[in-house]
Amino acid sequence: DTLAEAGATRTTCPYCGVGCGVLATARGDGTVRIEGDPEHPANLGRLCSKGSALAETLIPDRRLLHPEIGGRRATWDAALDHVAARLAETVAAHGPDSVALYASGQFLTEDYYLANKLVKGFLGTANIDTNSRLCMASTVAGHKRGLGSDTVPGTYEDLEEADLLVLVGSNLAWCHPVLFQRVQAARARRPAMRLVVIDPRETASAREADLHLPIRADADTALFLGALAAMEAAGTIDRAYAEAHTQGLDEALLAARPFADIERLRHATGLEREPLARFLDLYARTGKTVTVFSQGVNQSAAGTDKVSAILNCHLASGRIGRPGAGPFSVTGQPNAMGGREVGGLANQLAAHMEIGDPAHRDLVRRFWRAPALAQRPGLKAVDLFRAVADGRVRAIWIMGTNPVDSLPEADAAAEALRRCPFVVVSDIVRDTDTMPFAHVALPAAAWGEKDGTVTNSERRISRQRAFLPLPGEARPDWWQLREVARRMGFAEAFDHPDAAAIFREHAALSAFENDGTRDFDIGALATLDDAGYAALAPTRWPAPAGGAPTTRFFADGRFYTPDGRARLHAVRAAAAPALTPERPFVLNTGRIRDQWHTMTRTGRSARLSAHLAEPFCEIHPIDAARLGIADADLVELSTDHGGAVLRALVTERVREGTLFAPMHWTGQFSGAARINALVPAHTDPISGQPASKAAPASLRRV
Ligand code: SF4
Repeated sequence: DTLAEAGATRTTCPYCGVGCGVLATARGDGTVRIEGDPEHPANLGRLCSKGSALAETLIPDRRLLHPEIGGRRATWDAALDHVAARLAETVAAHGPDSVALYASGQFLTEDYYLANKLVKGFLGTANIDTNSRLCMASTVAGHKRGLGSDTVPGTYEDLEEADLLVLVGSNLAWCHPVLFQRVQAARARRPAMRLVVIDPRETASAREADLHLPIRADADTALFLGALAAMEAAGTIDRAYAEAHTQGLDEALLAARPFADIERLRHATGLEREPLARFLDLYARTGKTVTVFSQGVNQSAAGTDKVSAILNCHLASGRIGRPGAGPFSVTGQPNAMGGREVGGLANQLAAHMEIGDPAHRDLVRRFWRAPALAQRPGLKAVDLFRAVADGRVRAIWIMGTNPVDSLPEADAAAEALRRCPFVVVSDIVRDTDTMPFAHVALPAAAWGEKDGTVTNSERRISRQRAFLPLPGEARPDWWQLREVARRMGFAEAFDHPDAAAIFREHAALSAFENDGTRDFDIGALATLDDAGYAALAPTRWPAPAGGAPTTRFFADGRFYTPDGRARLHAVRAAAAPALTPERPFVLNTGRIRDQWHTMTRTGRSARLSAHLAEPFCEIHPIDAARLGIADADLVELSTDHGGAVLRALVTERVREGTLFAPMHWTGQFSGAARINALVPAHTDPISGQPASKAAPASLRRV
């Protein structure tokens, strides 16, 4: 009531996967007041620098305000008719797999649901993938092969309750700041709690840790094989649990035992003996351990194996499904989890079902009344753009993402779009590097203007609520998808008047013929009326109809495999990145604290840009001295795919022989520093996620 009187709207931050609640107030003078929502369980009023600067990144001056065809203003009717006609013609002439949709973790769940329904259900192809492929696809693959489902077992409280918190390939302090603040507060309350950071760089998180292991690139699997072997040596394998609830322990132990030899493990990981031994002892002996992992694990050609190596340790010791214990993936984007829930990846179907599973296809086909439902997985992001390049995909609709800057080998993605006969781009702004390739540009609703839901890293569904009017002719993504679907003859299946109706259908599908064998069930929300949806409080799933909500998955030791047992995998340690005399450095890429993705919003805030104002390359002092590079020199960073000119930052934060460059700066802000143009499009063979953190590179002073 107080909020209503004050005119504040309760909504959710559109940046990272922590999913903080925000109170937004549009004032009469055109400004917006932003505060953390003290009642949102994810943040209890806290916001990080990005969240608190949201009012400065609304960018009303740079909006795409009208549809355009061929760069000229068009009516919505003309643009939608044109898109529908070209998609239909392309399907008719070249088959369903000649069209594709490339979406975004910035989508709201309702947008994602409708996009997936249109493409997989009615266009008859599974060629819908998303920038979430670049973010956490290896976690999805690892979860599914280990747990039988893409389930994040724990909650944020588990991070606070752990006796040992291990961050692997996660700079939580910069990339999920409010969650890190919660961890720091928990450590202040319980000084005995230990924080270990495993990261090749001495990040802001590493500086706060009790122990930092500056691991060699891609050596995480070896380290967790060593950790499993250390558990066996310490007698902390829970054989009774493993025998009752898992399969594959003996094979996994066999694969791990060679790494019981600390010299071998030291060699494989590039770590010093003493800190390595300290970590192994701590990890083996601490029952309440949470292993948090993020892009350093996922963005690897062996990402799925890294995830399995971590899950193996938790499954072998029974440290899962218990308070303060479990593997925990933190997602990059605000709604990567919601995308997973509706099946936004090319190898998924809706509601955590599998497109490769005939029973799941049959169920979804009946629910959607979609006889043309796609029969097999579609192309994953990197392969999707390769198919655009070689003409297999002849029409692509890109929504809410900027692949010309964010895909690996980004110049090749640009060239693919240049050749593509039909490109539609839906975005809120016109000045992204992808927009010039659009034959049709569609103005999308921005954060603050659209209604729907997002799911954060601990499975909590929160409402995003509009508090600003739609500018010009901008429309929400779900509306654009619905209108194209109707024009293609699918009006009956796309009769949703609003986001609430889409959410109800999504919730009903999650419960449809779900006898408890599927993890994702929010059937209790399928009967929300409009007022209930409007007032929906943050809700963690599962939320089955008639059942008590379960906070913790796997507490009963039952997993979502056919026999209910989790699977350990006998993974192999990955090889070190292949360097050559011409490319002697390992290039690591990542985020900085105050920018988001390709900076289309945060790059416009003077306050955020003041943190780190220009693109840079971190280089170790020994390497810098050898190459005659001084701090603040301009350097050219090169890989086999291109070069970038950056400011040298000489620092011991990086390992000798490695470089780090942030991935944010793009054509708008610094055309010479598009880091993803340098990253090779090597992908994990199972997840299809690109390896963005271990590119062979060279460096020279300009
Ligand atoms: Fe937004 Fe993430 Fe910061 Fe929370 S931690 S305010 S969700 S960017």
